[in-house]
Amino acid sequence: MTLRGRLTSAFLVVVLGPVLLGSIFVALTVGAVSRERTAERLDHAATTVSAAVGALCRQLQAVADAVAVVPGESRSPVADQLIARGLTTDVQVSEAVPAGRSGGDASGREGWEDCAAPRGNTEVTALSASAYASEVTVIAAQRIDPALLDRLGEAGGVTVALSPATPGPDGPASVHLDAGPGRPLPLTLSVPAADPTLWYAILLLIVLATAIAAVLAARWLARSTTRPLGDLAWAADRVANGDLDTRVPIPRPDELGRLAGTFNRMTRELQSYVQALTASRDQLRRHLAILGDTLSSTHDLDRILPVILRTAMTATGARAGLILLTDPSDGRLAARCGAGLTGDWDLADADLTKRRLMPGRGVLGTVASTGSPLRGTNSAALDEPRCESYLAVPICAPPDDAETDPDPGALGVLALYDRLGAQAFDDGDLRTVRTFAGQAGVAVHNVRVHEEAQRLSLTDPLTGLWNYRYLREVLRREVERASRFGRMLTVLVLDLDHFKEVNDTYGHTAGDQVLSEFARRIRIGLREVDVAFRQGGEEFVVLLPETDAYGGAIVAERLGSAVREWPVPVDPRRPGLDDRIPISVSIGIAVFPEHGSTAQEVLDAADEALYAAKNAGRDTYRLAEGVSRGVPEGHFDSTAAVTGGPQPPRHGRGR
Ligand code: GH3
Ligand code: MG
Ligand code: MG
Repeated sequence: MTLRGRLTSAFLVVVLGPVLLGSIFVALTVGAVSRERTAERLDHAATTVSAAVGALCRQLQAVADAVAVVPGESRSPVADQLIARGLTTDVQVSEAVPAGRSGGDASGREGWEDCAAPRGNTEVTALSASAYASEVTVIAAQRIDPALLDRLGEAGGVTVALSPATPGPDGPASVHLDAGPGRPLPLTLSVPAADPTLWYAILLLIVLATAIAAVLAARWLARSTTRPLGDLAWAADRVANGDLDTRVPIPRPDELGRLAGTFNRMTRELQSYVQALTASRDQLRRHLAILGDTLSSTHDLDRILPVILRTAMTATGARAGLILLTDPSDGRLAARCGAGLTGDWDLADADLTKRRLMPGRGVLGTVASTGSPLRGTNSAALDEPRCESYLAVPICAPPDDAETDPDPGALGVLALYDRLGAQAFDDGDLRTVRTFAGQAGVAVHNVRVHEEAQRLSLTDPLTGLWNYRYLREVLRREVERASRFGRMLTVLVLDLDHFKEVNDTYGHTAGDQVLSEFARRIRIGLREVDVAFRQGGEEFVVLLPETDAYGGAIVAERLGSAVREWPVPVDPRRPGLDDRIPISVSIGIAVFPEHGSTAQEVLDAADEALYAAKNAGRDTYRLAEGVSRGVPEGHFDSTAAVTGGPQPPRHGRGR
């Protein structure tokens, strides 16, 4: 049975049941009341009719008395006059006087019933009363005809019939009055039987009308209730089939209307959610394409990492993100790129990359040191980005390459913050971010390996200093920079004195040790921005950016004494040899742009100055000859050879 059928049946039962019960009750009540009213009417009519019969008897008695008292000859005219006046219908005068009675039965005609002494005649034709005077008996009689009976009936509002001696039993609409003392006539009073058929017909009509109305109302109610539900079912079916444009009409502002409104809203939101998902999927595809292009086209982490971060954020719906890499020099976590960060971390890229975090501390430090991802809500670490929820995943080298990685362990951390919608990050997000962290790990690993390979090809394995190849590159770059910004650049060329003898005396290995130690002393004696190179053999070059000849002389002086004052300890090959090798260095100094306008010119000028220093007896420095020859007072005199004693810094030390 359909919902509509069930609703219709229920409504009919609920409405028609009481109507039918009520109708039966009303029908029963109408019958009872009708019978009661008939009985009351008959009762009342009996009293009235009896009184009327009594009054008639008294009237007949008065007529008889009146005729009896008048003289004999006048009786007849009086009687006629009274008959004419309608007070009686017959007057009979007779001589007989029955003993002991006011009127004798012998005096009355057959069928006359005496008011005073009714005899219960079966065939009553008249009602009579008799009077006795002057030896005569006068009987006044009233014929009982239909007119009299009608008059009696009118008085009681009933139909009166003279009933025979054996009347039928009292019906619901009639009553029988027996003749007796004070009631000379046997009468049957009847009222027209109340006919409830009309009432019953009206009742039936009402019931039928109600039933029809109920059926119509039930159909309307069921239809108006089930139609919106049908619409909803249809719409839900279409939505289930993917048609999210489907809407249902809102019939009325009732519960079903609210349901329809809610359905429409739900579908609308579902539609916008799907649109957002589609947009986010498209965005993710674009990001993934960019990521693929970036990974395949560059080794520049500053380009790769932001793309990885953006893609991870798009894939998880994170509001902000941060990538930190472990700095191999101090093991700390250095921020490399961020997006969407707020508060303390809302920094320009240059400032952001200065932020450092300690491994093992806070969420990010823990992830870096343990190599396990962490996620949660409300990060409590003070120096980390503030957030509602976070997900931090270690960036590790690819498993196959982890052994060859120059810096084993977590390479860094990829952290995402505050997933849109304020939910915490879930397992799916963790898997996704692990994938991107893996990409970042591959990229960082590749870059590190690449950098290491480059470093190896540019450094000298014995001393660890940059090699000649790199010298040319750096010198060219530095000259270009100094030229562009109008700065100075000083080049020192250093050559160990009589190094051949060291090799000859102590052996090549000791010579190597000396070279290595010499390089170490150079490194120690320089600023961070200065760069040292091994040009070849026992010849070295030092670049001093932002430094003039004066500064160059100070450095030459310092390096010269650092070599001279501490002989290099070695393993003596032969007994009797000193285990400390005294060495010295000669240095040529040239300054850009004073001694050359190109890298090669400056280097050549410094070589010449070195030659001059050698010629001057070694263990000293010389400033190149050149355009600086005419520098104003207070500057170097490049030709000056210094031969000991406290000297201004421009002077080298002679032997
Ligand atoms: P000068 O004072 O004129 O510079 O004399 P010198 O002996 O230092 O100069 P020379 O150019 O005659 O000798 C350079 C020596 O440096 C020759 C070579 O055996 C030695 N040498 C070059 N490279 C190396 C190296 O890598 N290791 C060692 N042990 N010796 C080297
Ligand atoms: Mg030498
Ligand atoms: Mg040499």
